[in-house]
Amino acid sequence: KAAVHRICSGQVVLDLATAVKELVENSLDAGATSIEIRLKDYGAEFIEVADNGSGISPENYQGLTLKYYTSKISDFADLQSLSSFGFRGEALSSLCALGNVSIITRTKDEAFATRLVYDHAGVITSEEKMARAVGTTVSVGKLFSTLPVRHKEFNRNIRREYGRLLTILQAYALIGKGIKLVCSNQTGRGGRTTVVQTQGNASVKDNIVTVFGTKTAGCMEWLDLAVTESCYVEGFISKPGAGCGRAAGDRQFFYVNGRPVDMPKVAKLLNELYKSFNSLQYPMVVLNFILPTASYDVNVTPDKRKVFLHSESELMVALRDALEKVYSPNKY
Ligand code: ADP
Ligand code: MG
Repeated sequence: KAAVHRICSGQVVLDLATAVKELVENSLDAGATSIEIRLKDYGAEFIEVADNGSGISPENYQGLTLKYYTSKISDFADLQSLSSFGFRGEALSSLCALGNVSIITRTKDEAFATRLVYDHAGVITSEEKMARAVGTTVSVGKLFSTLPVRHKEFNRNIRREYGRLLTILQAYALIGKGIKLVCSNQTGRGGRTTVVQTQGNASVKDNIVTVFGTKTAGCMEWLDLAVTESCYVEGFISKPGAGCGRAAGDRQFFYVNGRPVDMPKVAKLLNELYKSFNSLQYPMVVLNFILPTASYDVNVTPDKRKVFLHSESELMVALRDALEKVYSPNKY
């Protein structure tokens, strides 16, 4: 049974990026305004996510690493109006099955923090008091070490895994208004390098400047569109023909109600539209779709990156119309 769980866990936590993404989403769900991600050897050796969120109360210490345990949803109807990132209670139980998990946490009602160590079945093996500000630190050592073949492949491809992780962290960093997100990596015995960093108290525009740099940010302009009666789109996109440097297919970030998602069809639409302006590059995009929660599902793939929009084709037509109005060919 433990072996089955390990294999299934590998499907929730697919790679380094999903592991860290799940932890960052837990921090956001806990109301954190500061999230610090520390990696050792690009995450192969050690991953740690520390936040200043609500902390975990003692009655949840054991439950939270059990499969399908979640404190965020009480009945199925809640799924319709879901605003939190997590709701399936699979991340921590999966991480326990895949690596060495420990948690340090403190709520505002406690004078001390508690450090908990979990085994691969999610059972607490040690518990001690220690000092820490209110919030939670989750550490995962040697991710995938319980799956020898996967582990080997993970170590071999660690730089690629790390690259994907940075892109995902950028997605959260860009949209996180007023959230301070810092990621650093330490290799071997070398020093620690900060690789992603946003200030707290910043707008999306400020975040674009810190993540992409001033030059790139200067090429992007604000866009807001009422696409349909129930869909509103806002964000930043490159000015067509602004000559913003390199092709930016890897700098297209889409969100639904602030949740980073993949939107290949929207990306394709934008890229085609830009091509029709004789633009040499794909546009850089940071675009948030504001939609009623009942009009889409994010629960369709394990990593929750795919979004299923009800009436997607109508929406795409309306989006194309709206964009063509803004970017009328004679404007450029
Ligand atoms: P889910 O997020 O789907 O509820 P997880 O396995 O990711 O499931 O987390 C299980 C539970 O652990 C959460 O419901 C929450 O109660 C608690 N938890 C996890 N991380 C944090 C955190 N950083 N701060 C506060 N609570 C947390
Ligand atoms: Mg979660």
